[in-house]
Amino acid sequence: MKSAFLIKTNKIEIIEQPIPSIKENEVLLKVKAALTCGTDLKAYLRGHPLVHMPGPFGHELSGVIEEVGENVNGFKKGDAVMLVHTAPCGECQYCKKGLFNLCEILKKDMMLGAFSQYVAVGSRIVKHNMFHKPEHIDFEEAAFLEPLSCIVHGVNTLLPMKSDKILIIGTGPVGLLFLQVLKSLGIEVAIMGRNKNKLNLAESFGADKIYYPHDNPLDFTDGLGYDKVVECTGQKDVWLKSINFVRKGGTVLLFGGLKAGTEVCYDAGRLHYDEITLKGAFHYTPADVKEAVKIISSKKLKLKELISGRFSLSELSLAFEKLSRGEGLKYLIEP
Ligand SMILES: [Zn+2]
Ligand SMILES: [Zn+2]
Repeated sequence: MKSAFLIKTNKIEIIEQPIPSIKENEVLLKVKAALTCGTDLKAYLRGHPLVHMPGPFGHELSGVIEEVGENVNGFKKGDAVMLVHTAPCGECQYCKKGLFNLCEILKKDMMLGAFSQYVAVGSRIVKHNMFHKPEHIDFEEAAFLEPLSCIVHGVNTLLPMKSDKILIIGTGPVGLLFLQVLKSLGIEVAIMGRNKNKLNLAESFGADKIYYPHDNPLDFTDGLGYDKVVECTGQKDVWLKSINFVRKGGTVLLFGGLKAGTEVCYDAGRLHYDEITLKGAFHYTPADVKEAVKIISSKKLKLKELISGRFSLSELSLAFEKLSRGEGLKYLIEP
């Protein structure tokens, strides 16, 4: 089979590999749709602690079961499925506290290789985080399960209320997915970004107000500040700026990850006297994934509009070159 390997930064090669063999409780999946993601781009541009080079990469996918291992229940050869690339162990200290997104093995045991013709799906994923794809959902929509699960976790961490006014900063796929989910809950949402086309897309997804970085977005709240602010850029200067837009007693969700070791410094007066809450959100729990399956199945979100083009596996480098130039949101790869 063919598999795209990230050899080193800025270098992808398509490598002939044996089709993975599967063990008991595992499943061999033929990949039908894979999506590029910001994490993949970070790995491509400057390496990423969770993506080993040289090695297979890509983690947003859907496909058809080619083979099932012994003792697999509920799935058979030929089933179309949607899935995410991790599942918690259920046994570590964090799992015992119900903090499944912080499970100690998650980062060590990720299924990478969505940009391949086949992948072996591990037993824990098969058991907890793989689902039948409904027929009315296309494979490319089903491949959004992973990024959408992250968003669902972010929303569940933010705990938005119907009366809230929320500002999203960032118009990449994450910001635009966040926007769509919050709008589906009937919340008023403003969004800030630098790219005109992406802001226009945000408007078509129902954004109540759009802002460029040099605008003052507080006019939408009559100067008060937003109930909640969601940082979706993963840029240090934006992390720092986010706190300027939240009202007293409000919450800033720092959703776009910064490199570990990066230090950020906030005004103690705002944190203390204005009672600002800063929250992080990472990954998702199996409950978040189940919620994301429901959202995708409801067809409420415009997922296909986040796909800026489609490529075959051999053209994967082209997709990453475009992403490196800031062109497009996500690309669909059909191996
Ligand atoms: Zn992703
Ligand atoms: Zn665990």
